[in-house]
Amino acid sequence: MGELPEPGFRDSVDLMFGRAVALTDLPPGLAEKIRVCNATYTVRFGVRLRGKIETFTGYRSVHSEHMEPVKGGIRYAMAVDQDEVEALAALMTYKCAVVEAPFGGSKGGLCIDPREWDVHELEQITRRFAYELVKRDLITPSQNVPAPDMGTGEREMAWIADQYQRMNTTDINARACVTGKPPHAGGIAGRVEATGRGVQYALREFFRHPADLAHAGLDGTLEGKRVIVQGLGNVGYHAAKFLSNEDGVRVIGVGERDGAIWNPQGVDIDELRHWIVTNGGVQGFPGGQHVGDGAALLEEECDILIPAALEGVISRENAGRIRAPLIVEAANGPITAGADEILSKRGTVIIPDLYANAGGVTVSYFEWVKNLSHIRFGRMQRRQEEARHQLVVDELERLSAHLGSTWTPRPDFKEKYLRGADELELVRSGLDDTMRTAYQAMREVWHARPDVPDLRMAAYLVAIERVAASYQAKGL
Ligand code: GLU
Repeated sequence: MGELPEPGFRDSVDLMFGRAVALTDLPPGLAEKIRVCNATYTVRFGVRLRGKIETFTGYRSVHSEHMEPVKGGIRYAMAVDQDEVEALAALMTYKCAVVEAPFGGSKGGLCIDPREWDVHELEQITRRFAYELVKRDLITPSQNVPAPDMGTGEREMAWIADQYQRMNTTDINARACVTGKPPHAGGIAGRVEATGRGVQYALREFFRHPADLAHAGLDGTLEGKRVIVQGLGNVGYHAAKFLSNEDGVRVIGVGERDGAIWNPQGVDIDELRHWIVTNGGVQGFPGGQHVGDGAALLEEECDILIPAALEGVISRENAGRIRAPLIVEAANGPITAGADEILSKRGTVIIPDLYANAGGVTVSYFEWVKNLSHIRFGRMQRRQEEARHQLVVDELERLSAHLGSTWTPRPDFKEKYLRGADELELVRSGLDDTMRTAYQAMREVWHARPDVPDLRMAAYLVAIERVAASYQAKGL
């Protein structure tokens, strides 16, 4: 291994797409139309900072407009370049199709180390970048709707939304120009946790199918399963936290920039996150052993490996040494096409990125709909639902008294049953439904077709078929 050249990120996505497309019978030329990235806009802009003009390079790539708006985050990182943004935009197209979010695929990036700038400077830079994109309709509710990604979050999205509003003062749907906004700026409950929550729902659904578990040589439930997480950013943190607190998995290792924390008894995720936020890294964390070589963590024995940071961390170079029987791609593109081939041949089950991390864009979809409808989910129904449930409870109690029964409901029944769903519960319910339905569509293809070796190929096939159907409906 290692003698074959490692493909770049975009080539990697293309290779995976190509493998799946070879199993379809699309009309001539359509596969190529779907594969290519429609356009990538590069902008270089200056901002006066610290007494001089600093020049920044940013991108917004539109991969496919078979549905509009196109959707995808904006990443702030030094490694951002055209190849990466185009690969990520392509993944957005397929991701949206898999979870039936009615969007095309797009992605943006700014070549910047956000830690080098203070809040006020970041605001100036973000507003200027947003200005450049809004001016060219690369941010607008009906055509292109960004969201957070690595290095950005609610704060940046609020600046972008405000910038758009300043430039489009009469647009009644202005808030729908970007998702991932904070609650007070038109955001939706549950968006910050959404990608991690989606990873949890994906795993829960996978564990509902013993036949699929058997492919990974696993059985039983999530309870007690040993998990290794690489990257405790927004996605890794929420996935690890929910899986350990709510499903009883044991997170035995967490990898970060400055090494890894190892604890066979289970790492306390909230304590570790708090440590990282306060100390800037994992070093010195008392709840586990520090290992300097964070990358080696990927090769440790565990039941479930969750790469939740960067693309390309599992490559031809280390794929042969990965021991986890099940990998969940919480990050975008953590496994290169070369590594994917090696792992797939070995029978490692991979829950692929275009499904596993689609929770973010799914809840973005809910936020966009909320912004367009100008009303919070549940506002009309919640109390009416509670009133109807009260009727049932009253009647049950009357019946019990009438029968002279000593029956009383379980202590928490009334409280749980009577409470109408708020926005957060509705968002989680919609996300759970989305993740279950999408998994079932994938597994159907995986099991029905002997020529489909793995879930990634199945996911691509589901996506390609849906994108092809909308192109064909458009007369292309
Ligand atoms: N950046 C996230 C992703 O890679 C979210 C995209 C969105 O919500 O539009 O899926």
